[in-house]
Amino acid sequence: MTGQVHVVGAGLAGLAASLSLAAAGRRVTLYEAGPAAGGRCRSYLDRALGLRIDNGNHLVLSGNRAVAAYLAQVGAADALTGPAAPLFPFVDLADGARWIVAPNRGRLPWWIVSRRRRVPGTRAGDYLALLALRRAGAGRTVDEVLGDGVLVRRLLAPLAIAALNTPTDTGLARLLDAVVRETLMQGGAACRPLVPRVGLSESFVDPALAWLTARGARCRTGTRVAALRRDAARVTALETPDGTVELRPEDGVVLAVPAWVAADLLPGLVVPTAFCAILNVHFLTTADPGPAGFVGVIGGTAEWIFVRPQVVSVTISAANHLVDLPAEEIAARVWPDVRAALGLAGPMPLVRVVKERRATHAATAEQEALRPAARTAWRNLALAGDWTATGLPATIEGAIRSGRTAAETLLAS
Ligand SMILES: Cc1cc2nc3c(=O)[nH]c(=O)nc-3n(C[C@H](O)[C@H](O)[C@H](O)COP(=O)(O)OP(=O)(O)OC[C@H]3O[C@@H](n4cnc5c(N)ncnc54)[C@H](O)[C@@H]3O)c2cc1C
Repeated sequence: MTGQVHVVGAGLAGLAASLSLAAAGRRVTLYEAGPAAGGRCRSYLDRALGLRIDNGNHLVLSGNRAVAAYLAQVGAADALTGPAAPLFPFVDLADGARWIVAPNRGRLPWWIVSRRRRVPGTRAGDYLALLALRRAGAGRTVDEVLGDGVLVRRLLAPLAIAALNTPTDTGLARLLDAVVRETLMQGGAACRPLVPRVGLSESFVDPALAWLTARGARCRTGTRVAALRRDAARVTALETPDGTVELRPEDGVVLAVPAWVAADLLPGLVVPTAFCAILNVHFLTTADPGPAGFVGVIGGTAEWIFVRPQVVSVTISAANHLVDLPAEEIAARVWPDVRAALGLAGPMPLVRVVKERRATHAATAEQEALRPAARTAWRNLALAGDWTATGLPATIEGAIRSGRTAAETLLAS
C-alpha cells in the first residue's frame, strides 16, 4: 500500500498508527468524531471545578516499551513524571496499616525477602503466586490462579483490577500474566509508576498531533465517519459529514474506533461486546502527594487516590456495580476513604464524578475470544484499538501497540 492513509479515530491507537505511517512517508488524514483527539485518554476544561482535568487518572509503568517509544518519537519523553524509584504506597482502611511496596531495580527480586519492601503480613514464598500466572491455563481467572490471602488482598488483587479493569473472579489470568511478565518480572526498573506531568492531552495527544502536522498530516476533528464503502477486495470510499472521500486503489484505511463503532461500520465483524466502567471522582482540594503522588486503598470504595496540584482524584475500576448510582452518592461514599487515606479534615469539597461506562472491554475469557486481528478481509483496511488482539488488556500500551501493528499490516500489504 503506497498511497494516502485515512485513519478513522484519533485515540491513542489511531495516533500511534498515524505516527508509523507518517514516519514511513505516507500522507495521513485522521478523522475524529469528537471535538478533540485523545478518545478515552484526554484532558478537558471542567466548568464545575473551573479546572482542566483528565477524563480519568491514567498510570503507566516504565516497562511499557510502546509507550516509551511513542513519547520518544514525538519528543515528549519527559511528559510523564513519577517517583525516581518504583514505589507503591498503600493504606488498609480496615486497620489503618500503611506500607510501601518497593521492588528493587534489578531482575533478581530480593525485595520480597525484605520486610521493609514487601507487603506486611506476607512471606517471601507467597510471591511465588506470580509464577503460577505463567502456568495459567487458557480460560482460568485471576481468582482461580492466585487464590486468596494477605498478598492477594493487599497487592495482587488491586493490581489485577487496575490492569484488567475487570473483577478478579472473571478477569483472565493470562492477560494479567502478560502485564506482569513485561513489568514486575523484569525487575523494579520496569515498574516505576508514571503519570502525566501536566495532563493526558499534553503528554500523549498534543505532541503527537504537532509531530504529525509537521509532517503534513491532517487531523479533521468533529468529523464522524458514517460509513466505509467497500467492494469484495477493498474499501473504496469513506462517508463523512462533508461528503464522500473516494479512495484510490493504492490508498488505505486504519479503523481505530471503539469496538462497538467498528461493528456498526463493518457489519458481521466479531468484536468484544461486554464492557467495564471506570469511575473517577475529582475533589477540588489540596493534599500532601506523599512519596509517589498516589496511594492504593485497600478495604474502601476508593481504589487509587492521585494527588494532583489542585485536585485529589480517585479511581475505581471494574465499577459496573457503582456506575448507575447518582454522582452525589458515589462522592459521599468515596470522600470518607479519601479523608482517612490522606489525613484530611473538613467537609467534602467541590467534586466532579466522571463515569466512563464503557471504559474498556471486560478482560474475560469470553471477550478475549472476540478480539479480532489487525488484518481484515479487505486488503487496504486494518483494525486498531485496545480491543483488538494485542495479547494485552485494554491499556495505553495495548492501544499504541495495536496502532503500530495496523500500520505495519497496511505497509506490508
Ligand atoms: C477512565 C479511564 C481510565 C483508564 N486508566 C488507564 C490507565 O491507568 N492505564 C492505561 O494504560 N490505560 C488506562 N485506560 C485505558 C486507555 O485509556 C485506553 O486503552 C486507550 O485510551 C484506548 O485508546 P483507543 O485509541 O484504542 O480507543 P479510543 O480512545 O476510544 O479512541 C477511539 C476514537 O475514535 C473516535 N471515533 C468513534 N467513532 C468514530 C467515527 N465514526 N469517526 C471518527 N472517529 C470516531 C472516538 O471519538 C475516539 O477518539 C483507562 C481508560 C479510561 C476510560
